Amino acid sequence: MRWPIPADLPALLADRPVLATDRRGKYLLLRFEHGVQIVHLGMSGSLRRVSMDEAPRKHDHVDWVFDHAILRLHDPRRFGAVLWHPAATGPVEAHPLLAGLGIEPFDPRFDGKWLHDHFRGKRVAIKQALLAGHAVVGVGNIYASESLFRAGIDPRLPAGKVSRPRCDRLAEAVRATLADALASGGSTLRDYVGATGEPGAYFAIHAAVYERAGQPCRICGSPIRRIVQGQRATYFCPHCQKR
Ligand SMILES: [Zn+2]
Repeated sequence: MRWPIPADLPALLADRPVLATDRRGKYLLLRFEHGVQIVHLGMSGSLRRVSMDEAPRKHDHVDWVFDHAILRLHDPRRFGAVLWHPAATGPVEAHPLLAGLGIEPFDPRFDGKWLHDHFRGKRVAIKQALLAGHAVVGVGNIYASESLFRAGIDPRLPAGKVSRPRCDRLAEAVRATLADALASGGSTLRDYVGATGEPGAYFAIHAAVYERAGQPCRICGSPIRRIVQGQRATYFCPHCQKR
C-alpha cells in the first residue's frame, strides 16, 4: 500500500465495535471509540462485503472480520492506504492528510463567498485551483471542466480574477454538476464494483464538454477545445466560457 498497514491493527481492533462510518473527501472513516480507521482506495481499490468462507484472492490486502461478514479491501495497484488515528491524538479532522482538505461541496458553508475568499490573490488558473481541493473537495477532473462550463467561466482565468458574482455561479454549478452525477450513479466507473461485488455496472455522465474535443458545444455549436493544465486535460467551449 502507499504506507505500511499498522502491524498492530488486529490487536487494536479486536472486539471493538464500529460506532459510525463517514467520509472526508476520498478518505473513508471507520470510527471506533479509541480511534479512527482511515481508508483510501487510491486508484484501483475497492471494499467489498464478502461471506465468512470466501477465501482471499490476489491483491486482497485487509479483512475486517465482523460477526456475520467480512469487509475486504482489494487493491491491485496498491495506491490505497489503511491508517490508524488514535483518539488520544485529537480529532481525525486534524490528521495531516485531512487537515488541508477543503469543505464538502454540499456543506452549507460552501458558496460563492467561500470560493471568492479562497481564490483571492491566487494567480493559478481557476480550473487548477478547483482541482487542488483546498477550497472544496470532490471536484475532480471531469467535474471541474463541467462546472466551469456550466458557470460560463474560461478555465484559464486566474482564480483570483474570478469576480464574486461569477464565484456565486461557480459554486451553484459545482453543486448542480455533482448532484447530476450522483443522480446518474457516478461518471468514470469503468471498473466499478458494487459493495456486494456485482461487476460491470457502468454509468456514463452526459458530459457537456469532457472528452468532447472537436464536437459541437451543446449550447452554441462551437467546437469544444481540449487544453492541458497541470498535466490534466481540460475541456471547454471558447465561445460560452469567458475570461
Ligand atoms: Zn458554447
